[in-house]
Amino acid sequence: MKVLKFGGTSVAHASNINKVIEIIIDTLKDNEGVVIVVSALSGITDDLITLANLASKKDIKYEIIFKAICGRHNQVIKELIDLKNKKKVSQEINKKYNELEEIVKNIFSVQELSLSALDAVMSYGEQLSSFIINEAIKSRGISSQFMDTRTIIKTDDNFGEANVDIENSYKLISKNLKNKALSVVGGFIASTKDGITTTLGRGGSDYTASLIGAALDVNVVEIWTDVDGIMTEDPKKMKNALLISEITYEKAEEMAYNGAKVIHPKTIRPAVLKNIPIYVKNTFNPSGSGTKISNGKK
Ligand code: ADP
Ligand code: ASP
Ligand code: MG
Repeated sequence: MKVLKFGGTSVAHASNINKVIEIIIDTLKDNEGVVIVVSALSGITDDLITLANLASKKDIKYEIIFKAICGRHNQVIKELIDLKNKKKVSQEINKKYNELEEIVKNIFSVQELSLSALDAVMSYGEQLSSFIINEAIKSRGISSQFMDTRTIIKTDDNFGEANVDIENSYKLISKNLKNKALSVVGGFIASTKDGITTTLGRGGSDYTASLIGAALDVNVVEIWTDVDGIMTEDPKKMKNALLISEITYEKAEEMAYNGAKVIHPKTIRPAVLKNIPIYVKNTFNPSGSGTKISNGKK
């Protein structure tokens, strides 16, 4: 099996999501099970944080942000969901908008933003993106199952950066995703044993991908992002940054802990323990070789 994770820019809007679907179609040719992990549409997690903060300050401008968040998702539905399913998908998504609005109204009335309420709000980025992208894939005639990650990744209640209960989560992941042809899940989100929504820390969708990869003993985890791979420096800051084609787990982990945001630092450990190679690749240059992260042994 394989796990492919697509970050925020890769799923920013309908035309990028179409590029993602092409990569998925190509991967399915190998005839092995595939799990797709997606982030929120780019910028949505930041918008959700702004939304929650405004509401907690009794600032009615939160309504503008809320409408903009709904508008971006509605646009994707409009462009990517086939006619016969549009109504059903919109109904499901409207339910999620209503739930989110209830949570935000509650924050507004108590004028307080707890870390647990913030996690609940932030989780809608991935809840919405994963559901819609799964439907967009189905609209292309490909069968695919949606799975709510909160039911398969279990954590403690350290809201904002929850710690994963590895044993329990791996069992649940295996039970729900093992040997399935294609599944789509949201990254970043999880829940406590009592079912309270948690998140794994900003940028945590990469970690979700490696947890799922390790639980399923996959052959490879692919992190698809908006740059060619891990570079010597942040290419957005240093024009002459060079692509690193191969790197050890240790080096990659060190770079991540030192702030190379291209991969979340917690991503490496689950892969090391199962010796699963991680590739970092560019959604906008899919034929590029990317970066291979492994134990370095040939
Ligand atoms: P995604 O939404 O796909 O998870 P991120 O924005 O989290 O993407 O990570 C990708 C970004 O990481 C790149 O656009 C790049 O600006 C930044 N980055 C920082 N350091 C590095 C590095 N050493 N190599 C590559 N990218 C880096
Ligand atoms: N959407 C989350 C964030 O912006 C998780 C991720 O992108 O990996 O932090
Ligand atoms: Mg990221």
